[in-house]
Amino acid sequence: MLTVQWDVSTPQPVPRSEAVGIDVGLTNFIATSNGLLVKRPRFFLTCERKLKLLQQRVSKKHIGSNNWKKAQKKVASLHEYVANCRKDWQRKLSHKICDDAGMVFVEDLNLVGLSRGMLGKHCLDAGFGQFFNILEQTCFKRDIYFQKVDSRKTSQICPSCGTETGKKELSERTHVCSNCGYTTDRDVAAAQVVAIRGLAAVGHTVKMHEQGVNSLESPRRKNPRTFRSSSVKNLFIRSFAENSPAF
Ligand SMILES: [Zn+2]
Repeated sequence: MLTVQWDVSTPQPVPRSEAVGIDVGLTNFIATSNGLLVKRPRFFLTCERKLKLLQQRVSKKHIGSNNWKKAQKKVASLHEYVANCRKDWQRKLSHKICDDAGMVFVEDLNLVGLSRGMLGKHCLDAGFGQFFNILEQTCFKRDIYFQKVDSRKTSQICPSCGTETGKKELSERTHVCSNCGYTTDRDVAAAQVVAIRGLAAVGHTVKMHEQGVNSLESPRRKNPRTFRSSSVKNLFIRSFAENSPAF
């Protein structure tokens, strides 16, 4: 095998055209700001019974014997099959999102914390972390800008007027704003808030490109992958005023 190390500067995708915000969840795997809702496939849960059976067979075999090795191999193959199905599905979904986007924004979630919670098994089965990595790679390949934004209170803010609508129960599937009357699916509303935050984060850059300034210096640059702001609401309102109507 020959390995060659070479110093090359790869051009990074720049923010442009249509912005798509993505909200991930357990009911809908993703909801996008342009209204796409995709149900969560249960890759692991559908194979769980089969896996249990195979693991029982392993436990009945004499440890280290040939039959034990064969049974172990079957368990490993099933795990691999589930992982491959998940990866393949996520790749296809990433391309579908990229088909009509120039910029993709996702929430910067604490995935380790989520996987340790009550719904940890479901979060791990959904594979949010892997999906974000695949989506980021797909965006890079297709020259689409990708950025993570602050995930706090995305489901508690009205994307139309910026009012805080308060916590919603999980059973509450619709966002209805008491201030402006804006009504939409709750996940789509959260995705729209993500898109607005993303636009606020790159707003400066997009403006400079429109004006033909060939520089990518923007106010947020401490960590180019993550945008956090202590005054999210202020930025949100400013961005909304600048970019309205965004959808
Ligand atoms: Zn509203």
